[in-house]
Amino acid sequence: MKKLLPTSTAGSLPKPAWLAQPETLWSPWKLQGEELLEGKQDALLLSLQEQLHAGIDIVSDGEQTRQHFVTTFIEHLSGVDFARREVIKIRNRYDASVPTVVGAVSRPRPVFVDDARFLRQQTTQPIKWALPGPMTMIDTLYDSHYRSREKLAWEFAKILNQEARELEAAGVDIIQFDEPAFNVFFNEVNDWGVAALERAIEGLKCETAVHICYGYGIKANTEWKKTLGSEWRQYEEAFPKLQKSSIDIVSLECHNSRVPMDLIELIRGKKVMVGAIDVASSTIETPEEVADTLRKALQFVDADKLYPSTNCGMAPLARGVARGKLNALSAGSDMVRRELLNQS
Ligand SMILES: [Zn+2]
Repeated sequence: MKKLLPTSTAGSLPKPAWLAQPETLWSPWKLQGEELLEGKQDALLLSLQEQLHAGIDIVSDGEQTRQHFVTTFIEHLSGVDFARREVIKIRNRYDASVPTVVGAVSRPRPVFVDDARFLRQQTTQPIKWALPGPMTMIDTLYDSHYRSREKLAWEFAKILNQEARELEAAGVDIIQFDEPAFNVFFNEVNDWGVAALERAIEGLKCETAVHICYGYGIKANTEWKKTLGSEWRQYEEAFPKLQKSSIDIVSLECHNSRVPMDLIELIRGKKVMVGAIDVASSTIETPEEVADTLRKALQFVDADKLYPSTNCGMAPLARGVARGKLNALSAGSDMVRRELLNQS
């Protein structure tokens, strides 16, 4: 991006009420068959228009075509039995009934490539596409086949790389991997997590990003956050390794969070998507609040590497709230952009 402080979102945006139940995470579809396919495309167009209207620079599909940021991808793979479920603890935090890996995993056909091509046809703005990261994928499954988190992550990394190469060919400018698990399993992150992520981006010429956050504003996450103390230093564990990795962009939660901003110094040299919008609250930030967060981040990120963004996805928020937050992100970034241009 040549524009200073290009704005984007971390991922999901609310779905229209005719497609899925509003303000509900992972809500089931209201349409079926052909109508569902058409409905998803219509929702993608709406979501794109809202982003463009708010002045967001790097746009996405708002994840209108998927129900869940991890499961929807896995549903398209073979080797996973969705009828065989086990209860496991996800991110060491909450119990969930998850599908079982019953054989070698593979990707019989592309998952999101048609959707990405459709988005590409609708806009000349840079587009970003999100995929789950390998470590977050394995943390959402029960594995009765490989019986090794590392081995399964490696297999998923290979599959993600196939998908990513086709997304790149479809014209995606930035491929983002969502890795909230990087904030929990520090030893694994350093042993093989970052390596698996690098396997997933092998050979790509487009830009690549990793999104690491403290999750949606759901109860299990807000309860967990209460146990983390006054300073959240989780990023400190993965950052040194990420700084040395081949990933281009790191997407982070910053606004209203207890993450000390100076931790960003540990990834100096990387582009940083700074979360300047709180997704766990329905209060719409003022442009001044957004600008404040960005100014703080500028102490630790070079201006040409700062990408204003949201802390996480906004799927569970009311549409009007999400729209207001997009506008605030845009207006706050504009304020800081003008300050920077006046200085130079
Ligand atoms: Zn997130």
